[in-house]
Amino acid sequence: MMIWPWKKTNGTAAAAADLRERNSAEDALTALIGALPDPVMLLDDHGLVRAANVRAKDLLNMDPVGQHLSSAIRSPAILEAVQNVLEHGGELRVNYEQHVPVPRHFEAFVAAMNVIGPEAAALVLLKDLTREQQTERMRADFVAHASHELRTPLASLLGFIETLQGAAKNDEASRERFLALMQTQAERMKRLIADLLSLSRIEMNAHQRPTGTADLHQIALHVRDTLAGLAKDAGVEIKIDDTDPLLVQGDWDELVQVIQNLVENAIKYAASGKLIEISGKRVGEDCELEVRDHGPGIAEEHLPRLTERFYRTNAQESRSRGGTGLGLAIVKHILNRHRGKLRIQSELGAGSSFVIRVPAVK
Ligand code: ADP
Repeated sequence: MMIWPWKKTNGTAAAAADLRERNSAEDALTALIGALPDPVMLLDDHGLVRAANVRAKDLLNMDPVGQHLSSAIRSPAILEAVQNVLEHGGELRVNYEQHVPVPRHFEAFVAAMNVIGPEAAALVLLKDLTREQQTERMRADFVAHASHELRTPLASLLGFIETLQGAAKNDEASRERFLALMQTQAERMKRLIADLLSLSRIEMNAHQRPTGTADLHQIALHVRDTLAGLAKDAGVEIKIDDTDPLLVQGDWDELVQVIQNLVENAIKYAASGKLIEISGKRVGEDCELEVRDHGPGIAEEHLPRLTERFYRTNAQESRSRGGTGLGLAIVKHILNRHRGKLRIQSELGAGSSFVIRVPAVK
């Protein structure tokens, strides 16, 4: 229970009735700010903090009740806003940044209160905007990345078109060469758009858990058939261990995409290891499937970031192998929707292991 420091008693019966009324209003106000989801403080007309909810105490790492606002919060903007609403009424919104223990960004909402009398004259509510701002920044970064990825092949296509219209107009050999290069660039754009659409489709369904069933072992066999040509061209053998069916609750097409992205990566980046091994097993309530290669491996510092959109350990190499930088982001999103997980273990020179874990059919 919060203490209202201005509760005083004085002798007369009328004063006692008045006090009871005021106390019950104060109790209601106390309960109200206690139930609010944001840090809230109530100030008197001198700027002294008269009440604060637990969230405010946690945020300020102190109990500000009884102190002047300036000792609770070091923000000239908030103090000025409080001064302003105390003098002129109304409401104001100002920014407030916290730097320790982690940077956080708030909007302080400061409003005059004249319902309760001079003791609760202003309210300060701090709305945490850190998450919203992070999401907004990620969205802006994503758009910038995607546009950049599309602009590069587009610029090179435009360059080739110009050359074909001008210098190489009547040069058959150059024409063939440029057309082949243009095809490569156009296909890169097509892949990127397909991956972007895939990601947005998965995100749209992110909260709906798939209802079908799929066998991870069968999917591995299917992916091996699909990628047989690619593996052969790269000189890689795909070996799949025999197992009992690994039935999981999931969407066949999406899980095909997960395993296909992992095996494709192993072919693209780890062909030097010559062998890709796929094995699966039941682990408690889940099924696991591992795609293991014997390629160059991945340095430890990259591992936590590999599933970020457009994160690559070597952008040049990824592009030259037809990578979009979205493969593992798609894997992660599909697994999230399946309430599954991805575990990556790798070491430079020792190959990589990508393990997916998905809840088994009950
Ligand atoms: P990309 O389209 O570039 O392949 P991914 O999201 O599928 O994008 O993979 C991200 C990065 O992770 C790749 O660019 C590559 O640097 C690295 N990577 C993924 N799989 C492997 C692997 N099996 N061996 C080595 N590096 C890998």
